[in-house]
Amino acid sequence: MSSKSSLLKVILLGDGGVGKSSLMNRYVTNKFDAHLFHTIGVEFLNKDLEVDGRTVTLQIWDTAGQERFRSLRTPFYRGSDCCLLTFSVDDSQSFHNLVNWKKEFIYYADVKEPESFPFVVLGNKLDVSERQVSSEEAQEWCMESGGYPYFETSAKDATNVAVAFEEAVRRVLSLEDRHEHLIPTDTVNLHRKPRSATQCC
Ligand code: GDP
Repeated sequence: MSSKSSLLKVILLGDGGVGKSSLMNRYVTNKFDAHLFHTIGVEFLNKDLEVDGRTVTLQIWDTAGQERFRSLRTPFYRGSDCCLLTFSVDDSQSFHNLVNWKKEFIYYADVKEPESFPFVVLGNKLDVSERQVSSEEAQEWCMESGGYPYFETSAKDATNVAVAFEEAVRRVLSLEDRHEHLIPTDTVNLHRKPRSATQCC
């Protein structure tokens, strides 16, 4: 078992209202109350976890509200190790917009090798009864777009939330293994640190 630890920046992107803040809140605090985050303006939350014997600190960035402050995209996106493209299974428009979120992320995060970047796709609000996007349709898009892992989640009842984040971490670690440069927590690059972020937990 390795004692190395890493700080990984993960960003949730997708249309407003798909449940990005709720997913982050569910994963980090195991609560379902995104309203609190919007109110106090939390930008990111940290969570320590162990994946396959590796200790990792996930810094999960919430872009809620960023739809209104487009000029902040570059500092938010830069330095991301993984991007969780999120839509809501009861909102087909949010699914069709994934392609735009992906393009925007690649551009503003200045991703050098988009074909190998670890994107993970989340179809949230699995608990709702009226679906507009089928599992098959979503899986097909993930396959065609680059073989992205796809998880159907519910921030409301916690379905698949932890496994989705853990898979994201696995993707990043395996990519870093290939590049052989795990970044120790105590020597994290400055560009990974937010300038004025409110943190809890
Ligand atoms: P964001 O704008 O993408 O951050 O979305 P929010 O996290 O603020 O959620 C938008 C709305 O969807 C809120 O009313 C949430 O309570 C609701 N919501 C979020 N996740 C779920 C979910 O998994 N199931 C259901 N039924 N509602 C959800």
